Amino acid sequence: GEAIKLDGLNAAQIKELRENAEKFTFQAEIYLRELISNASDALDKIRLLSLTDPSSLSTTNELSIKIKTDKENRALHITDTGIGMTKQDLVNNLGTIAKSGTAEFLSKMQDSAEKQDMNDMIGQFGVGFYSSFLVADRVVVTTKHNDDEQYIWESDASSFSITKDPRGNTLKRGTQISLYMKEEASDYLEQDTIRNLVKRYSQFINFPIYLWSSKTEKVEEPVEESEEPKKASDDDEAQVEDDKTEEAKTKTVEKTVWDWEILNDSKPIWTRKPADITDEEYNEFYKALTKDSSKPLAKVHFVAEGEVTFKSLLYVPSVLPSESFNRYGTKSDNVKLYVRRVFITDEFAEMLPNYLSFIQGVIDSDDLPLNVSRETLQQHKLLKVIKKKLVRKALDMMKKMDKPSYKKFWKEYSTNIKLGVVEDAANRSRLAKLLMFHSSNQSEMTSLEEYVTRMKPKQTHIYYLAGANREEVEQSPFVERLRKKGYEVLYLVEAVDEYCITALPEFEGKKFQNVAKEGFSLSEADKDRHEAAVKAFEPLTKWLSDEALKDQIAKAAVSERLTDSPCALVASMFGWTGNMERLAVSNAH
Ligand code: ADP
Ligand code: MG
Repeated sequence: GEAIKLDGLNAAQIKELRENAEKFTFQAEIYLRELISNASDALDKIRLLSLTDPSSLSTTNELSIKIKTDKENRALHITDTGIGMTKQDLVNNLGTIAKSGTAEFLSKMQDSAEKQDMNDMIGQFGVGFYSSFLVADRVVVTTKHNDDEQYIWESDASSFSITKDPRGNTLKRGTQISLYMKEEASDYLEQDTIRNLVKRYSQFINFPIYLWSSKTEKVEEPVEESEEPKKASDDDEAQVEDDKTEEAKTKTVEKTVWDWEILNDSKPIWTRKPADITDEEYNEFYKALTKDSSKPLAKVHFVAEGEVTFKSLLYVPSVLPSESFNRYGTKSDNVKLYVRRVFITDEFAEMLPNYLSFIQGVIDSDDLPLNVSRETLQQHKLLKVIKKKLVRKALDMMKKMDKPSYKKFWKEYSTNIKLGVVEDAANRSRLAKLLMFHSSNQSEMTSLEEYVTRMKPKQTHIYYLAGANREEVEQSPFVERLRKKGYEVLYLVEAVDEYCITALPEFEGKKFQNVAKEGFSLSEADKDRHEAAVKAFEPLTKWLSDEALKDQIAKAAVSERLTDSPCALVASMFGWTGNMERLAVSNAH
């Protein structure tokens, strides 16, 4: 084969990757996790294909990952019976890094100087196939795809070559990655190291992972005849007895035996009983699923029954994934869809609505058809039912969080929930129960439920005022009279708050009242007093409206809301509030 220059990953980039590896205490060991994850992806693909085309498993129906160390040749082999790669696939997938996690990683790395950022990024992205070169000088990929002959790709990281395998189709189907280890990576040729790494990072892979491993076994061996000469006997019965005693005479010897040792429990965690799963296992599964290095904030593991039966395990990450990881508005989902334990896709649009796109997890249903294309499946009517239940369960999970966790949750996801109120009419009242606002009553934020329990006996509305920050709304003249009378006012100080409340018709039968809006009065008693004042000051308001401030204001009126301040500017009943106008102006700039 002729050497071809690597397209996309140049020598300088490789050099940088390696240098950074040393500088940032790069966990070189993640290469194994990446290669096993690729093997698992390839197995998922052939299994999915076999559902519509059973003949795709005709060369072998084994679906496994096998790892072998070879100290003599300083090689580590990772072999899967996945979909394999055609010659063209080798060029497209391994010859360019444009689409892989590596490209994203390298581009991020270029604008990140911080060590912590680096390690976080490694945790979140992994660096894909090219992480092999962190530990290996030379990588050989042998692969057999059903549609092509067996090929060998070989690279020293700066160029690669592809040749047809002269040995023929020895793999039947799948891919073998052979890493020829660097001097300093000798540790990865030890069985114990590999075993520990697989157990640590790949325990939730849904295919069996085997290690070719040696065990020293104590074996009972019969003592040789010459050591204890047989007594001669002419009695047949005695002879039989003698044979028996002879069989019992054995000695213990140590023997090295080699065999495939299974390293993982490939039974998917979500199919196990919640009572049998420890918090530790739930957390570890989350980390394996998301590559997030911190624990999740909340989880829910459930079986939905009824119109459609499915199992699901959902998580809330402890931190809202930053923009580059957050797939808000893009096609990919953070919820993986399985049908009867077979991975189908994480590329469906909207297993969950956009505002819940931060939720991570899996769903697995026995009721969806396996033998149809993904496109057909995407149209399946049961999927709608599943989606609806997923949203409910996700919202339940949030509602059930304890106070300290919910505080953290709100800090990260408040905007998502408020957008949910605007976007998801069907779940609006459920979402409203999750809302938290600043309030005149206390320094802590309050839920609407809590606000309602504190309402005065005759209070009919939930009062709020929107503004730029707490200080501004606190000092607003609109609020002062209400506070003096002991009413609580919600302070809407986030840009999205007012849009959210405007989308809510009511909460527990209580309508919302913007205290800065015209036409707002407190009580009938106040009304009479107010009407008297309106009459008495009519000449003044008329003069202000028609002459003195004719071009500045729509109209002047006697206020019901002020106590100490002499006057206030008020938005009209159907007009924008000052806050919304301010937002519109700042958005336009
Ligand atoms: P990613 O997994 O994010 O796509 P990688 O760098 O890990 O990126 O892998 C690049 C591509 O190489 C994969 O998308 C896949 O097409 C191909 N590939 C890697 N390993 C295997 C494998 N064991 N079997 C089949 N294809 C593989
Ligand atoms: Mg990968």
